[in-house]
Amino acid sequence: MMESVDKRWYVGYTWWITISAIAILAVRLIGLFVPAVGDNLHAWGIDITTVVLALITLLYRFTLYKKHTETLGLNFATLLLSMIQLTNAINMINITGWDNSWYILVLYTMFFFSGIVGIYPIIGGILLLSLYILISIPDINKTDGLTLQTVGTLAVGYLMCVISYFMWRNRYIDQESQKVSHLTGLLKSNQQQSEILIKSIADGVIVINTEGTISLMNPAAAKMVEWGIDEASEVAANKVVHLTKEDGKDITDEENPLSVVLKQQQQIDKTVQLIGRKDKKTIVSLVISPILLPKTNEFVGAVAVLRDVSEARKAEQQRADFISTASHEMRTPVAAIEGYLALALNEKVSKIDSAARSYLDKAHMSTQHLGQLFQDLLTSAKAEDGRLTSNPSVVELGTFVEQLTNDLRLVAEKKGLAMDFLTEAGNTVNATNGHVLQPLYYVYADADRLREVIINLFDNAVKYTEKGRISVGLTGDAKVAQCFIRDTGPGIPPEDLPHLFQKFYRVDNSATRTIGGTGLGLFICRKIVELYNGRIWVESQLGKGSSFYINLPRLTNEKAEQLQAAAANTVTAKPVNSDVAP
Ligand code: ADP
Repeated sequence: MMESVDKRWYVGYTWWITISAIAILAVRLIGLFVPAVGDNLHAWGIDITTVVLALITLLYRFTLYKKHTETLGLNFATLLLSMIQLTNAINMINITGWDNSWYILVLYTMFFFSGIVGIYPIIGGILLLSLYILISIPDINKTDGLTLQTVGTLAVGYLMCVISYFMWRNRYIDQESQKVSHLTGLLKSNQQQSEILIKSIADGVIVINTEGTISLMNPAAAKMVEWGIDEASEVAANKVVHLTKEDGKDITDEENPLSVVLKQQQQIDKTVQLIGRKDKKTIVSLVISPILLPKTNEFVGAVAVLRDVSEARKAEQQRADFISTASHEMRTPVAAIEGYLALALNEKVSKIDSAARSYLDKAHMSTQHLGQLFQDLLTSAKAEDGRLTSNPSVVELGTFVEQLTNDLRLVAEKKGLAMDFLTEAGNTVNATNGHVLQPLYYVYADADRLREVIINLFDNAVKYTEKGRISVGLTGDAKVAQCFIRDTGPGIPPEDLPHLFQKFYRVDNSATRTIGGTGLGLFICRKIVELYNGRIWVESQLGKGSSFYINLPRLTNEKAEQLQAAAANTVTAKPVNSDVAP
């Protein structure tokens, strides 16, 4: 059984060994020039064996020691140090007399601390001590040399070593085997308490080790996966916990959270479908976190918590259905009211006095807002349950965004805002005619949906910016095409940034609160961008402005041509399948 030491102890002890060896050499050096008092103490009591050992120790400390594992290095260095101290102490005892030398106390003290790093230096120390005594004490070889006192001294010395080991081991020494199966150890210590706790948790709890096999499972988890607790123990987690995507599609090994957590050692939070052994299907919210040891941060496994959200999902679905039906039904009368109000406000059709006009104007604006709210509600309900219609095709973002910017320019300029179209990175100038060559940024998405996103971001930029400019731009690299909309508006407080793309989230500050809105626009944008495996985010500085970015996977020119050719061939045969991504 190997032993390992506490890291802090290792560092401290390393220094102690180094300093001791240097001190021995220094004392010997001083002894060369300053003779000690008394005839017996040659070179201050440090003999040549001790010096050689100190040199070897220092040499080892600065070479192999660094390459060895902490445990091995420390054991070996301690052994060397013990030898230095032993030879030195015994040399001194030899000089001063074996029977009643003060140096025996030094020897005992040394033995008492020898157990700090473990049992090996002690065993080594005892063996060496015995050997050294046999060789170096001339008295022992004579029949009358081995006095009772000498034997007693040695016996106490050995006893000291053993006491030392038991005294220090629990303080600084970990058993290596304990570390290896630390996870099991952790679970088994306070076993009763852990069992009561884990059994009573209503969520499924599964602990897996670094090998990916199940170390522990609670009854709730066993019920979900339809396995017995004991039979699942030590079986590969992937085999017991059969996961698919929420919509029932397969999860590849690279995507499977149970494998990913072992590779990345980071928490994963996902909603997935769990299929039991007898085919029971449960939608679960799965949070799987790595287990790291407290001091060393060593990764020893992962714990998965599975919460059945099937009922919650059903309720959510019903709510979404209700919202979408209600908003769909209500849109028609609202459109009728809006139409009649428009007629009432039309001077050619009806005559009204100025007071009535101002009231009707307000009513008209509110009706428009209501219509927009219903529209947004309908779109967001559809986005949430994946019913958003989408007919993706190959879109060249350069032309698309530039065109759109030109269409929108008027809206910005009407509010007195300047408007730019920027193409930042990737521009190359053609050497022969000096024209700027803009690379082609092909993406696979529904152009109408993309337009909706960009217009939404642009509308926000115009809505919230009082003066300055709005820049729409396009950039990217080999893998992504990036579109951004930048404004010089009030900016967004940092604490709101993480929530901005959530449903109904609106920033509650004086700069934007007074401006009407539904809080659904950015949520819909996110849902649409995610539909095409893209990402949307915002960077903003209060008082300076905001930049909204959209990243979409970029198609290579060849892939784009292939897809365009395929679409041209099938367009007469059947409509483009909206579910199929490239
Ligand atoms: P709405 O604009 O209808 O309120 P959105 O989802 O489009 O809803 O935006 C959410 C919130 O984000 C807005 O209420 C606003 O506070 C903030 N916001 C969005 N765009 C900008 C922007 N360009 N500048 C400052 N704040 C913004």
